[in-house]
Amino acid sequence: MQNAMQNAELRELKSLLETEKVRLEELLGRTAKHLYRREEPYNADFAEQVVEVENNQVVEALDSNAKIELQQIQAALVRIEQEQYGLCRDCGDTIAIERLKLIPYTDLCANCA
Ligand SMILES: [Zn+2]
Repeated sequence: MQNAMQNAELRELKSLLETEKVRLEELLGRTAKHLYRREEPYNADFAEQVVEVENNQVVEALDSNAKIELQQIQAALVRIEQEQYGLCRDCGDTIAIERLKLIPYTDLCANCA
């Protein structure tokens, strides 16, 4: 697999992905709690309501971004298991190691991205 990629580099990228996965799962645990609490009635004070709604929008954005990133990371970890990691989804070329270090979950080479 990945003739161009050293095993040490692959291990490093895998551990980066796993660290990020744990971070995102913790983040999603917190955003889920926050968004769940929102079901409670809003604060009666209008100014505080506005702040609360704005906070919720921030948390919602954070939550959906984290979900997307987590999916990408999980897919990348599956590709490592299947020995497909580091290969471009579109053209099948090897993705440059510099690019993988920057975006460990990418499945597109610089040309196809
Ligand atoms: Zn490509």
